[in-house]
Amino acid sequence: METVAPFKEVIDEIREYGGERVVNCFQCGKCDTVCPWNEVTRFSIRRIVREAVFGLSEIEKEEIWRCTTCGKCPSLCPRDVKQIDDVVALRRIAVKYGVYPGPVKPIRTVYAGLQSQGNPFNEDRQKRDEWRDGLAVKEFTEKTDFLYFPGCYLSYDPRLKKVARATASVLLRSGVDFGILGPKENCCGESVRKAGNEELFVRLAKENIKTFIDHGVKRIIVSSPHCYHTFKNEYPEFRVNFEVIHMTQFLFTLLKEGKLKIKGEYRKRVTYHDPCYLGRHNGIFEEPRELLKAIPGIHFLELEESKMNSLCCGMGGARVWMETPKEERFSNLRLKQALDLKVDELVTACPYCITALEDSRAVLDVGEKIAVKEITEILEEVT
Ligand code: SF4
Ligand code: SF4
Repeated sequence: METVAPFKEVIDEIREYGGERVVNCFQCGKCDTVCPWNEVTRFSIRRIVREAVFGLSEIEKEEIWRCTTCGKCPSLCPRDVKQIDDVVALRRIAVKYGVYPGPVKPIRTVYAGLQSQGNPFNEDRQKRDEWRDGLAVKEFTEKTDFLYFPGCYLSYDPRLKKVARATASVLLRSGVDFGILGPKENCCGESVRKAGNEELFVRLAKENIKTFIDHGVKRIIVSSPHCYHTFKNEYPEFRVNFEVIHMTQFLFTLLKEGKLKIKGEYRKRVTYHDPCYLGRHNGIFEEPRELLKAIPGIHFLELEESKMNSLCCGMGGARVWMETPKEERFSNLRLKQALDLKVDELVTACPYCITALEDSRAVLDVGEKIAVKEITEILEEVT
C-alpha cells in the first residue's frame, strides 16, 4: 500500500485538519450500508476511516474524493465519527501535495477561475449580474432591506439563470426591498473547502465578508443550499454573523404574511427532492413542501427516500466539478424514483441538484416524460 507520508505524519495531519474523531470508529459498517455509492458501485467509507486511524490513507487514489458529503452516514453513525471531516482532511493533504487523480483533475481549472474571476466557470466577473437584464432588480445599498445572493450557478449557467430571474420576479411581485451586489460578489467557497482547498476558501470568504460589511449587509437571501450552509454555519468562524435565509424559508414567510399572493392554479403531479445541504445538513424540510402544497391544483406526492433519508443527487462535496461515469450518477436513480411515482415534475431547490437531474433527463432520454423544476419557477407561473 502506497502512502505519501510516514504514518505518524498522516495521522497528525488528519488530526490537525479536523478528522480526529476517526479513532472512535468501531467498524460496525453502518456507514457503508447507507452510502449511496454502494447503489452504483463499490465504495467503503468505513475502510477510509480505518486506514486514517493507522495513517495508512492512500491519498493518491480516487476513493478519498468520492464522498459527496451528503451527510447520511454521519447522521447515523453510532460513534459520531464525522466521516466528512475525515475525507476533507485527507483531501487537504492531497491538495497540499498537489495529488489529483484523473477524474478529479478538472477541479484545478475551477481553482483558476475562482482565483482570477471569483467564479468556478472562469466567466467574466463583470458579467455576474447579466442574468437580471430587463428586470427591475437594483444594486444593493446600505438602505436596502435584503441582499439577494444568487450564487455562481444562477449567475452564469443558462439553465439556472432562469431560476435567478424567476426568483427575482417573485420577490418583486411580493414587494420585497432587495438588491444585488453583482460583480462585487465572489463564490461562497463551499465546494472548494470540501475539496480541501482551505486557502482558497478563506480568501473567497474574507473578500465576501469585507464586501458585505463595506456595503452594510445584514440580511442575506440565498438560492443555493450550499451558499446557505457556508454563510450560516461557516462564515461565523470569521467572527461575523449575518442573518442568512434560504429562499424557500423566505418565500414561505411571505406566504404566511400574505405578501406572496398565489393567483393561479397548477394542475400537475409533482414531487420534491430534498437537497442534502438544505435538508439533512440544515433541517429545512417543511418550507419547500408547504410552498408547493399551498398552490391550488397541485397533486403532491412524496418520494420514498425523503427528508433525512433523501437520496443525494451526487454533486455535493465538490463532486460537481469532478467526472462521474454516466452509470454511476445518483441523479439517474433519483429521476427513476420520480418516474415511478408518475409525476409530471420533480421539484427541488438547489442549483447542483437541478444540474444533475437535468443531465439525467438527457442521459436516460426521458425529457418528454418528466420536467425538473426549481420551486421559484413554479411560483413565478402562479403569482
Ligand atoms: S458507522 Fe461510524 S462507527 Fe460504524 S463503521 Fe462507520 S464510521 Fe465506524
Ligand atoms: S457522507 Fe454520504 S457520500 Fe459521504 S461517505 Fe457518508 S453516506 Fe457516503
